[in-house]
Amino acid sequence: MFDKVLIANRGEIALRIHRACREMGIQTVAVHSTADSDAMHVRLADESVCIGPPPARDSYLNIPSILSAATIAGADAIHPGYGFLSENARFAEAVEAHGFTFIGPTPDHIRMMGDKIVAKQTAHELGLPLVPGSPGPVGSLEEIVALGEKIGWPVLIKAVAGGGGRGMKVVDGPADAAEAFSLARTEAKAAFSNDSVYVEKYLGARRHIEIQVLGDGRGEGIHLGERDCSLQRRHQKVLEEAPSPALNAEQRQRIGELAAAAVRRLKYRGAGTLEFLFQDGEFYFIEMNTRLQVEHPITEAVTGIDLVREQIRIAAGGPLGLSQKDIVIQGHAIECRINAENPETFIPSPGKVIDYHPPGGLGVRVDSGLYAGYSIPPFYDSMVAKLIVSGPSRNECLMRLRRSLEEFVIGGIETTIPLHQKIIQQHIHWLERLVGLKK
Ligand code: ADP
Repeated sequence: MFDKVLIANRGEIALRIHRACREMGIQTVAVHSTADSDAMHVRLADESVCIGPPPARDSYLNIPSILSAATIAGADAIHPGYGFLSENARFAEAVEAHGFTFIGPTPDHIRMMGDKIVAKQTAHELGLPLVPGSPGPVGSLEEIVALGEKIGWPVLIKAVAGGGGRGMKVVDGPADAAEAFSLARTEAKAAFSNDSVYVEKYLGARRHIEIQVLGDGRGEGIHLGERDCSLQRRHQKVLEEAPSPALNAEQRQRIGELAAAAVRRLKYRGAGTLEFLFQDGEFYFIEMNTRLQVEHPITEAVTGIDLVREQIRIAAGGPLGLSQKDIVIQGHAIECRINAENPETFIPSPGKVIDYHPPGGLGVRVDSGLYAGYSIPPFYDSMVAKLIVSGPSRNECLMRLRRSLEEFVIGGIETTIPLHQKIIQQHIHWLERLVGLKK
């Protein structure tokens, strides 16, 4: 097992990884930009190294700085978290080339899944059902129109290097295709320095269902059930739950087994997520994320398994230690992503947190680096906390979520807590009507 792990990330996920390490008796090294000297992940880590100025490209994305920090601190392994360098195959290669262990999959698997066309081709070879669409990148307007006529409108133009819902445009019919094609390419170029796009049939009544998997890199692999992440804004997740209220037992088992079989055939190493759209009883693979996901805690809540601990154990060369029959889904869990943003305009609201009181009690988990007096820097993602509740049933989770959101105080900045309160209240009204409690 490792003695010391460097955490190449910030915020709540850096803390999350630190916690797993401490519970395993592993020392932690935090890295931080000059804007994050006072951050909680820096305060709690055993050691910390400043890796550059505030812009992420100069610090959290600066590979030479991170490798130097690992060398100086004498770390054995590097955990990339999510975002930043977590899906950068070159980084994973450089980490290994410098004699450290990368806590994640092989660079080849990262690269394969980072290109969505290659990912879809691979998924097809692995026997996973795909969304109908272009077999490769589309190069002309004529191709899009021909495809729309063939598979039926509307279609969705997506970036080959996509992520975070960027570079996606819905095309209702031939008349919209030219503008959408040009917009998608411009957005993709700006976000990923790659303007290559492809086309999928637009599934208008879909659910987003994703399967958490673990593989040992030698052909063993299991799944840990699904997460339903259908509640989104601009194709980005807002609230996630497990298990999905939309699946029946047969559908759940079918997609879980398909995903686990794919992991075994790939000889995938570590934690990953296969994402599917679900419509009219059918699943359609869209992508695989070769890293820990933001919403991993809901899987932890319903399985009782610490996913970061498993990632670390696998990276250290251990066997899976879990078989499919060890995975028992119990109860329900819901996560709200809380952002430092205006809850109506979604304009970021960085600044000083004056008051901070997280909710507590049975079945409540808050993953956040916030504290009273902390100043949220304006340079990074606006997600500042995750509220995860669990309980025996979905209804109990909703009631627990309502009371936890009522308790949550983050003073001094604007947050999306009021947005979550509205969403939950709507669900609760709907349920109350359903069971005849209220008209
Ligand atoms: P990204 O990598 O940018 O997050 P994904 O391919 O994972 O993109 O898709 C993100 C979300 O966009 C999905 O959860 C879904 O809501 C929507 N989406 C993606 N593909 C389609 C599609 N073919 N039809 C309808 N919605 C889609």
